[in-house]
Amino acid sequence: MSDLLTEYLYVLSVVLFALSLKFMSQVRTSRLGNLCGVVGMISASAATLLAYQVHQVELLVGAVVIGAVVGSPIGLKVAMTAVPQRTAMSHAFGSLAVALVGAAEYYQEAASIDPASLLILCGEMVLGFSTFAGSCMAFAKLQGLISGRPFLFKGRSVVNTAVLVGAAGAAIYLVANPLLGQLVPIMAFLALLFGFLLVLGIGGADMPTVIAILNSFAGLSAAALGFVLDNKLLIVAGSLDGSSGLILALIMSQAMNRSFANILFGGFGAVASAEQAVPVQGGRTVQSYTVEDAAVVLQSARSIIFAPGYGMAVAQAQHAVKELADALEARGVDVKYAIHPVAGRMPGHMNVLLAEAQVPYDQLWEMERVNPLFAETDVAVVVGANDVTNPAAKTKPNSPLYGMPILDVDKARTVIFIKRSTGPGFAGVENELFYLPNTMMVFGDAKRVLTDMVAAVRKLGA
Ligand code: NAP
Repeated sequence: MSDLLTEYLYVLSVVLFALSLKFMSQVRTSRLGNLCGVVGMISASAATLLAYQVHQVELLVGAVVIGAVVGSPIGLKVAMTAVPQRTAMSHAFGSLAVALVGAAEYYQEAASIDPASLLILCGEMVLGFSTFAGSCMAFAKLQGLISGRPFLFKGRSVVNTAVLVGAAGAAIYLVANPLLGQLVPIMAFLALLFGFLLVLGIGGADMPTVIAILNSFAGLSAAALGFVLDNKLLIVAGSLDGSSGLILALIMSQAMNRSFANILFGGFGAVASAEQAVPVQGGRTVQSYTVEDAAVVLQSARSIIFAPGYGMAVAQAQHAVKELADALEARGVDVKYAIHPVAGRMPGHMNVLLAEAQVPYDQLWEMERVNPLFAETDVAVVVGANDVTNPAAKTKPNSPLYGMPILDVDKARTVIFIKRSTGPGFAGVENELFYLPNTMMVFGDAKRVLTDMVAAVRKLGA
């Protein structure tokens, strides 16, 4: 009876995990997706308790209490801008758990384990330990505990490859000699060192993509453990986790026009900030306008598209953007929001902030859909975005941004550009848009500028 119930609960969990991913792919259904994930996890935990006889319940209860006491305040208090590092931490714990369960399984079953299972177990431990070290490094970089710049040294790729080959060599030797238990700590150390070195050479701003890749590694190692433990739920959940992490990393790297190899081994960030950053090109001037000038242009517009970016997140200006949109809509203006897939510093960054400000979902337009509309739009208001609007991505083959799809804000009749200076964005590249004749630069903190703009628009309308 309890076997049958376990099977049913496993099937229910698998269905809920798949639905969770499906629902989370749409902003409108994402909360339901989250709920499906939570219920799926509760059902999976219940099934696991039924399937395995738990002898020391107090250990289990103690672990759940400690996890809840530590995890709940973190989950409730974490700032939106700190979600990438929080995600890195949860990958670190998940992959460490998988690696430790793998090691425990080896020490319990070493005498009887077959070579194929031992090979999978070793692969799972190498992936788990390297993901743990890589995720801890990603956390430290994003949290500012260590410098976010990529640490590059000569022969880095050779050293990294040698360490990985060393870990793989220890694994193969262990498969050939299953009772040589002292090889496990050596293999674990080399895997930890590999994860540490790999992420050490990657710039802090590439960490969200790296985290998606590490997420995929953690999922793969969980799936491998599922094969060894003969646990179908772990295989399915690990595969879903691994493939969704990989798809997300692919989407992000495509949207940045970067290859995985360039992200993992390119040391991007060092180059951009040191060599290609060009603060202001000599002789050219930008047209700086006041909030009141911008309000006059907005007041006479019929259609407006907001293009938010990282600066909106820094300024926490999403509520002020919504307030301005409301004031303009009250005057009959058509308002849309253009969402670039890598605007900000994490996937869905702009969607989350705008949803928090109660912006209706149907006003959020993805890049492919909104780009053809700019040519017939009166005003594009760029709020703290930079790289994702830079025409150099289309016109300058030597630019690090070249080939990255951008929001075509330059095609709008007027561009109101809100930022604090003419400084570059993440890629360290000057934005040609600042100098176009139809661009009005309004300098200042986005929240302050937008709040003043709302007042100015209301005053004009009074
Ligand atoms: P961006 O190119 O980094 O530019 C952000 C701009 O915001 C800066 O130029 C800055 O200019 C301005 N800013 C900062 N604080 C501000 C404030 N308080 N008020 C007003 N403006 C402020 O941002 P983006 O256009 O959103 O592009 C995102 C970049 O990050 C892309 O290059 C993308 O490839 C990269 N990236 C994204 C992800 C992701 O998952 N979304 C992951 C990794 C990398 P001032 O200092 O002059 O104000």
